[in-house]
Amino acid sequence: MRYPSLAAMDGDLIDCRRCPRLVAWREQVARDKRAAFRDETYWGRPVPGFGPADAALLIVGLAPAAHGANRTGRMFTGDRSGDVLYAAMHAVGLANQPTAVSADDGLELYGTRITSPVHCAPPANKPTPAERDTCRRWLDEELRLLAPTLRSVVVLGGFGWKALLPVLADAGWEVPRPAPRFGHGAHVELGGDRPLHLFGCYHVSQQNTFTGRLTPPMIESVLVDAALAAQLPIRPS
Ligand code: SF4
Repeated sequence: MRYPSLAAMDGDLIDCRRCPRLVAWREQVARDKRAAFRDETYWGRPVPGFGPADAALLIVGLAPAAHGANRTGRMFTGDRSGDVLYAAMHAVGLANQPTAVSADDGLELYGTRITSPVHCAPPANKPTPAERDTCRRWLDEELRLLAPTLRSVVVLGGFGWKALLPVLADAGWEVPRPAPRFGHGAHVELGGDRPLHLFGCYHVSQQNTFTGRLTPPMIESVLVDAALAAQLPIRPS
């Protein structure tokens, strides 16, 4: 599966129906809706990556949220996790605004793209290993297309970390053995034609941010390190 551009890939991705359980769930959620959004038309399809096709920094999450990205059609848009992530990105200079409420809200990312190893909302935010493996075809291709400009990656949580390492290895980067362990603040430099800096960050889920396990300064600190590694300008604090 080879595409000439991310735009061409995303054009096919949004029609993907390879995972029957996830197709059924994303569409059921889109029909039933949450009461607060009952007047909205949910996206209810695979959510493509968001951000420029020549990004130097990639942020990798887990999967779209049922009433967030599965509703709005854009990564981390329309839920509390996105509120936290985009506020941090704006604080360090990677986004033009701190909020993300809909796909047409004017949000722009600077040198940074956001994607996930699973592109459809899963029940209980838990994709199965088989669904992760099925969706890997899209992540493989996204990494291949981003490789010429990519310099660093921030992975939000252990699921994304585990999903991404074999993809990076197959894309040509040298992943150490045994595989590096996920942790908040983990930083590994992967060799290859162009070295890649890999950073770990706790996921911006409410479970982590409401309990104080992950705070805005903690996210901003990882983003600054990753942006500097990618040679992106940051906003002085
Ligand atoms: S999770 Fe990925 S592979 Fe499965 S249906 Fe959605 S886009 Fe397709």
